[in-house]
Amino acid sequence: MPATDPRVAAYAAQILTDIDDSIAEGALPASVRTFTDLHTYCDANDFLTDAGVPFDGTPTGLDLTVTVQDEVTRLLQAAGRPWCSYGTCRYPGHDHTTTQAHDGSELPEPAPMHCTDCGRPAHYDTKLGDYRHDDPAAPDCFLIHR
Ligand SMILES: [Zn+2]
Ligand SMILES: [Zn+2]
Repeated sequence: MPATDPRVAAYAAQILTDIDDSIAEGALPASVRTFTDLHTYCDANDFLTDAGVPFDGTPTGLDLTVTVQDEVTRLLQAAGRPWCSYGTCRYPGHDHTTTQAHDGSELPEPAPMHCTDCGRPAHYDTKLGDYRHDDPAAPDCFLIHR
């Protein structure tokens, strides 16, 4: 393997800035933790194009693209990176609330959702069509797996 292309860090940093802008605008949820996750919510290749990552269809170009994607994933998984939760989420496709009480009855007001299995804060993601723990690093439980 050749030494890592010095442009990789710059491309990845630019893409992370763009991702953070999208999260701030509510275009992406703060729960994304891998480059592949981005594809669920948008055309993730646009981030590569916008950052100027050259794509010429050659094996070298493809290698560079994959290396940049891996670096973006590494940055997204950095410890301390905030995730969205009730009250902070700006993504309209997330519902961090529930109107169902633990005993199955209807609550008078929507309340912050908690996983009914493990009790961790949770949300419904309309793009995934599934429930997720707010903390992307939370271990899988009986109800929620990534
Ligand atoms: Zn959210
Ligand atoms: Zn759970």
